Amino acid sequence: MNTQTPQAAAAVSDSDDLLQDLVHANHILFDEGVLDAFGHVSVRHPDRPDRFLLARNMAPGLVRAEDIIEFELDGTPVDADGRKVYLERFIHGEIYRARPDVMAVVHSHSPSVVPFSAVKSTPLRPMCHMSGFIGEGAPIFEIRDVAGDATDLLIRNAPLGESLAHSLGDNNVVLMRGHGATVTGPTLKQAVYRAVYVEVNARLQADALRLGPVEYLTPGEAKTAMEMIEGQVERPWQLWKQRAQARR
Ligand code: MN
Repeated sequence: MNTQTPQAAAAVSDSDDLLQDLVHANHILFDEGVLDAFGHVSVRHPDRPDRFLLARNMAPGLVRAEDIIEFELDGTPVDADGRKVYLERFIHGEIYRARPDVMAVVHSHSPSVVPFSAVKSTPLRPMCHMSGFIGEGAPIFEIRDVAGDATDLLIRNAPLGESLAHSLGDNNVVLMRGHGATVTGPTLKQAVYRAVYVEVNARLQADALRLGPVEYLTPGEAKTAMEMIEGQVERPWQLWKQRAQARR
């Protein structure tokens, strides 16, 4: 099935595959329970590192190629043509600006992760070999530190996006207190993998904490395990993609 419009095709020139993969990523993250009607996934433009691709304001499970819009890093849409854009697009642009190594970003309200954003005494840490990308633990972005105690908790402008990117630092995951998480990757497939497995890790960690003190991965184990498992990212991607396609 190819529903791509000439306009969307022009936006990514030779990179039709990446555009299609971004559509698949939207569907996968919905099917795997990471995104629901809210949340979004973007990829840095393959030919223009100062731009990124993100769907128009809509439920991720319904995204098609013609719904993808190109954005400047400051959140300005290049080819929206009157289409409504996501309020929290600044999450993506400001992380791409701060982190040249990041090629894809997932912002979710991943249900098992949200509790770790609100319980600051129990950091989210890697507790199994599938989630080494969490490294030494996910930092928490506290919006009150930069915007006071009466916000809607959303990243609704570029300065808030910049503050979030600062909290992310060199990590792959940043939690957002009372809101959700933002996950980054050096490829779209790795970002999707990480967004799925940060949810799994949070569920497992909460389960483990009920049993007793948890033995977490050391920083060395986290790094080694991450390199091992993410070298095989094609395997879950193909599975999740096929399942997502079969459902549509
Ligand atoms: Mn959000």
